[in-house]
Amino acid sequence: MTDSSGHRTRGAALVQGVAGDARLTVLSGPSGVGKSTVVAGLRKTRPDIWLSVSVTTRPPRPGEVDGREYHFVSEGSFDQLVERGELLEWASFAGYRYGTPRAPVVERVSAGVPALLEIDIEGARQVRRAVPDALLVFLAPPSWDELVRRLTGRGTEPPEVIARRLELAANEIEAGREFDITLVNTSVKDVCRQLVALMMA
Ligand code: 5GP
Repeated sequence: MTDSSGHRTRGAALVQGVAGDARLTVLSGPSGVGKSTVVAGLRKTRPDIWLSVSVTTRPPRPGEVDGREYHFVSEGSFDQLVERGELLEWASFAGYRYGTPRAPVVERVSAGVPALLEIDIEGARQVRRAVPDALLVFLAPPSWDELVRRLTGRGTEPPEVIARRLELAANEIEAGREFDITLVNTSVKDVCRQLVALMMA
């Protein structure tokens, strides 16, 4: 995106003319890789980083608090948010919808607060289009074997379901090429440290 003098503008589609100092960062990666564990680590240790709270139609899991992990909403409320253009991006995942409320992101980025979105790969692609200078970080498993171990860990799914999940995971790992940087999830502590360094650079 460029302004009239040909200079690249910072997230103009998102911020609509307000020049913020902070860069929007997106953390994405294959399901099961540990993104939400990384975000939980940041929530505990870095109150200076703002973590976007998504809306979702999925019901809460035990221990999840409305307004902390997600805003849990009905299908009808989600439809309204989409119709009113109140979501920066949204995607369907495993039968539920997930989206990022636009206004809080605009507010933080305009105020110069470092902001992080933890979203799926399709959502990351949409942010790339809406905010071309967002930093897209891909979280990768330490190895393919490790991801297989995590996805088959429960041992409850039939072989064809596991095969399908692994096929999806292979595609998701392939999508890593579209990102600005890849962090390998060898340890949550290391990933948090590397992510903070990137956000504060
Ligand atoms: P879970 O149901 O396990 O909390 O999340 C399922 C997937 O949805 C994860 O890959 C997570 O990153 C993704 N997700 C969470 N919030 C959002 C969002 O606002 N937008 C998009 N596109 N994906 C999201």
